[in-house]
Amino acid sequence: MTAKILYGKEFAEKIKESARQGVEELKKKFGVTPGLTVIIVGENPASQVYVRNKHKTCAELGIISQVVALPEDTTKEALLAKIDELNADKNIHGILVQLPLPAAIKAHSDEILNRIDPRKDVDGFHPVNVGKLVIGTPALVPCTPAGCIEMLDLAGIEIDGKRAVIIGRSNIVGKPLLHLLMARHATVTVCHTHTKNLAEVAREGEILVAASGKAGLVTADMIRPGATVIDVGINRIAPKKLVGDVDFDAAKEIAGAITPVPGGVGLLTVAMLMKNVVKAAKLQCEMRNAQCVMRNGDC
Ligand code: NAD
Repeated sequence: MTAKILYGKEFAEKIKESARQGVEELKKKFGVTPGLTVIIVGENPASQVYVRNKHKTCAELGIISQVVALPEDTTKEALLAKIDELNADKNIHGILVQLPLPAAIKAHSDEILNRIDPRKDVDGFHPVNVGKLVIGTPALVPCTPAGCIEMLDLAGIEIDGKRAVIIGRSNIVGKPLLHLLMARHATVTVCHTHTKNLAEVAREGEILVAASGKAGLVTADMIRPGATVIDVGINRIAPKKLVGDVDFDAAKEIAGAITPVPGGVGLLTVAMLMKNVVKAAKLQCEMRNAQCVMRNGDC
């Protein structure tokens, strides 16, 4: 039997609709329109496409979006000063620094990302947000793994009690997904480059997530019959050809459900970013209101 194909578009539309409703609620309840600032440094063409896409999606949903484009030779100090300025701006609820940074400042990426106020960290990369995720009180969670969970929920695929296997242990996909799946009561195994007998471990997964960035790594024999296969990988194998980590054509004959590449989870990332901007704005509005009450209305 051929697997159900989980197309990202329909899930992304649902997630964006819920973000749109969130925007309306914030306007009604607090008189606030959420605002996102994306900082892009240099001229990386792929980054420019991603940033345009985020800007366009904000406009679609009624989120105020500002792109700060800085020259390639921007110093670390100048970038930190820009982040400080945005941290202090109460009309900006989300700040995102588009990666990768230019070679001259790339080594300082952690210091730069950690300068973002955790309450405005809509990428969910700040150690405060990572810590909250690990201890089970998530605030702002990285968009791609959060999108995988939303997709499973929207597709009606049970997580509780399932055996889940993740291939990849990066900070932006594998590790946060481990905590999200564990919080939903899955039993999770994380595989990486030093995992022995990868095929055998992968076959245990009723939910198998491939996030290795290696085209064709996951072959049909690594899939448990009927498993849900989520392919996070995006690999360019020719100038105009993108593929995932999974051998899709063979895998769809074994899996119960599977995401394609392109057209799968990639589409959920921007949608989840919009949800994070709305969430960040809501948390900031609630915090300001609470402070206002503490000061007996002297806001
Ligand atoms: P990464 O390079 O930081 O991490 C890859 C992980 O895979 C590592 O932990 C490594 O140990 C593991 N790995 C690599 N080769 C392996 C092998 N042969 N066997 C077992 N494990 C192996 O990559 P990343 O940033 O986590 O991204 C992974 C993939 O997901 C990439 O293709 C990336 O483009 C894609 N991605 C997509 C989205 C999206 O859909 N929006 C977002 C982030 C990443």
